[in-house]
Amino acid sequence: MITRRTFIQNSLLTLGALATGPSLYAQSNPKVMTVTGLISSEKIGFTLPHEHVMSIFGGPIAQHAKYNEEELFGIVIPYLKKLKGMGLTTLCDCTTAYFGRRADLLKTISLETGVQILTNTGHYGAAKDKYVPEHAKIESVDQLTKRWISDWENGIDGTDIRPGFIKIGVDNGTLSPIDLKLVRAAAQTHLHSGLTIAAHTSGSTDAAFDQLQALKEEGVHASAWVWVHAHNVKENDALLYAAKAGAWIEFDGIKESSLDRHIELVNLMKKHGHLDQVLLSHDGNSFRYGDRPFKPYASIFTHFVPRLKEAGYTNKEIVQLTVINPRNAFAIQVRKA
Ligand SMILES: [Zn+2]
Repeated sequence: MITRRTFIQNSLLTLGALATGPSLYAQSNPKVMTVTGLISSEKIGFTLPHEHVMSIFGGPIAQHAKYNEEELFGIVIPYLKKLKGMGLTTLCDCTTAYFGRRADLLKTISLETGVQILTNTGHYGAAKDKYVPEHAKIESVDQLTKRWISDWENGIDGTDIRPGFIKIGVDNGTLSPIDLKLVRAAAQTHLHSGLTIAAHTSGSTDAAFDQLQALKEEGVHASAWVWVHAHNVKENDALLYAAKAGAWIEFDGIKESSLDRHIELVNLMKKHGHLDQVLLSHDGNSFRYGDRPFKPYASIFTHFVPRLKEAGYTNKEIVQLTVINPRNAFAIQVRKA
């Protein structure tokens, strides 16, 4: 006799079997890739999905960024230990190749602090293409995809460290040819790896909708895509449209002076039934180029979670926002349109 339970179990098994690639993509046991290796997504805990441990953003483009490592470790390690004491378990480092990604240093920092860190593959086409390397301007979508898949399969920059997501950036407005190329390469890398695409899109609804269209054309579902810096969007309808399509809506940029606006945005998503697609982060940076000031990433712990409680959010909803949503967003899984 087929009971309802066995029917559901069989359906799940079928779904798992249909998922592309090896078992690590199976829906029944999703995984997340950190700089120290693969973990069960159940272990992700309280996650900040968009921070920068360090970057050379603002400085010249560099294939292999150099840092004063003694100074870097001296600042970043105590800071991350402090955040761990506040409840931080996992952090997604959004510093892309060519403006400061150093997977090897992130691994050292993760091992020293016990904070799980995800790094990324991809290229950053925002900032008027300042950090787009020369090869990306001439190569095809397929060639770029090969590079990013090589990061995934072989490791980043000669290490055995693999990316936990794909990070791209696009400029405002309708996508430029180079930005569209990055989006298509990200889509194809997703179909091969199951890695989620976090796209610096900011307040540009044109850039967001162009991306959703390109993803659809590539056969990728919107749930594989994070609208990064969506707190800069002025049109609520655009956020709801993307959420209805299945996209992750990331309100990063949280700081003490932004709490009112961020509460409004979370309320909007809750009112329309999309709380389970919201990601919250600071876009902080603990080691910046030149004399740029430290951008802290503690306000969610010290100010925003208390504000959510004041606004009537239950513990369950707060766990949804800070643990379950990032767990689902960064689970390695191919999401086809
Ligand atoms: Zn950022």
